[in-house]
Amino acid sequence: IKVEPYRPQAFIDFTVPANVDAYQAALTKVRAELLGKHYPLIINGERVDTAEKLYSTNPCDTSEVIGSTAKATIEDAQRALDGAWAAWADWKTWSMDARARILLKAAAILKRRRLEACALMTLEVGKNYAEADVEVAEGIDFLEYYAREAMKYSGFGAAETTWFDGEENGLMYLSLGVGVSISPWNFPYAIFAGMFAAPIVAGNCVIAKPAEDSGMIAGFVVDIMLEAGMPAGVLQFLPGVGEEVGEYLVQSAQTRFVTFTGSRSVGLHINEVAAKVPKGQKWLKRVILELGGKDALIVDETADLPNAVTAAVQGAFGFNGQKCSAMSRLIVVDEVYEEVVGQFVERTKALSVGTGEANCNVTAVVNQESFDKVGKYQEIGKGEAKLLTGGETPGECGGKKGHYVQPTIFGDVPSDARLAQEEIFGPVVAVFRARDFKHALELANSTEYGLTGGVCSRNRARLEQARNEFEVGNLYFNRKITGAIVGVQPFGGYNMSGTDSKAGGPEYLGNFMQLKTVTERF
Ligand code: NAP
Repeated sequence: IKVEPYRPQAFIDFTVPANVDAYQAALTKVRAELLGKHYPLIINGERVDTAEKLYSTNPCDTSEVIGSTAKATIEDAQRALDGAWAAWADWKTWSMDARARILLKAAAILKRRRLEACALMTLEVGKNYAEADVEVAEGIDFLEYYAREAMKYSGFGAAETTWFDGEENGLMYLSLGVGVSISPWNFPYAIFAGMFAAPIVAGNCVIAKPAEDSGMIAGFVVDIMLEAGMPAGVLQFLPGVGEEVGEYLVQSAQTRFVTFTGSRSVGLHINEVAAKVPKGQKWLKRVILELGGKDALIVDETADLPNAVTAAVQGAFGFNGQKCSAMSRLIVVDEVYEEVVGQFVERTKALSVGTGEANCNVTAVVNQESFDKVGKYQEIGKGEAKLLTGGETPGECGGKKGHYVQPTIFGDVPSDARLAQEEIFGPVVAVFRARDFKHALELANSTEYGLTGGVCSRNRARLEQARNEFEVGNLYFNRKITGAIVGVQPFGGYNMSGTDSKAGGPEYLGNFMQLKTVTERF
């Protein structure tokens, strides 16, 4: 198989009016063709409907139902497991190249339907144009990148072993079997696709359980995988309730691995459940967990301050702070605290709040639970620190009822405050005053999390110190701390942020394979 070297998709430039027009045309098309659509389960290549449904509503206009998915039962989950093991008997014999072709074909279809996927995401989870486009680009990148990574594992002896006279020694890469992929709603397309594409291309069969809030975009992606030629049973689509079918799949003796991206609390629970060995299970389940963050950007007195403020605004409020990588803590050295925080607050006040469809900077948070959670932390923050802007949850905007919350900043936050330690997952930033750079780094490392972090500084020695001592999986200097690109910035967190599997990196497929060493004495 011949492919050009991997390169990430370019992003669409929405300062070009024609691109804005094209996006709006896609919104019209999706409203006409996909609104109200229902996505059944897909088990063994067949569409299966259920008595109960899960509905998606528009976070920016909660009176609007976007569509629905089936709601899997335990019996459906069991059939999906049985069918996936049956499909694996054949799928594991396919060559890496043959499996990779399906991902490449799917990527080609997705490129043709790029704006449609974006528009659906705008309606289902409230992303604005650039946020949706960056995510769709990432989803295409995952397929293109993992296809090429898989090709590197072709055949016996793909890894080097040392020569030993009189023997042939080699390493074989084998798939694991059937696994479960449980994904979050905040990257409903890219993370969902990446989390099934990698294990599948490595020869496993996967039961994909999307988040309840984003079942439609997941169904859209799965349809494209089937169109690209994914054989029956290899990718089982199982929308349902996490605590019900998710839990069942995690504990099952038939599950060989679990790949999970989501919150710390659910991730820790899954870790515990998966560690138990039910009767009949003859392996240790492999568990890959990518969890939350409380990510910090440090700004010192040598930094290019306008650039630092831009990094702070983009990192904090892109997709309303609903990113695991979002900058929820800003740590500023005392000497420049007033200047940086003053500018940060001014720039935040200037952000537009409204619908994703109107391409506002900040849109509504995803659901009632998130809305309540942000409101709760705004109140906690008022008791712990100084409110600098925001602090309200209006719940409507421009006459539309939705999960609207104000972008909010608290200043002079104590390092042990709840605001300083707990993931809020919304547009709420805690700002800290550091005595000096050393203190700033101590503050940055003072949470249990370790996902992303950043430093804005012109001091080389400090950047080198941070390179070694800042405890995060993804560290950025002199830019925003969000927006990792597949293959360019492999992504995954330390400590309570996860198992650091580095999605979009050269080691990632190894999570879904086992090695066998074979020796023949001649
Ligand atoms: P979540 O509440 O933990 O849910 C994630 C997934 O787990 C959903 O599909 C959910 O299903 C399912 N689930 C819930 N309870 C379960 C159980 N007992 N057993 C099995 N599955 C269960 O997280 P979220 O709100 O969707 O996503 C936001 C979180 O994800 C944030 O903490 C964010 O930081 C994190 N995140 C991390 C990364 C990363 O790469 N580190 C990337 C993106 C997001 P339901 O939808 O049915 O509840």
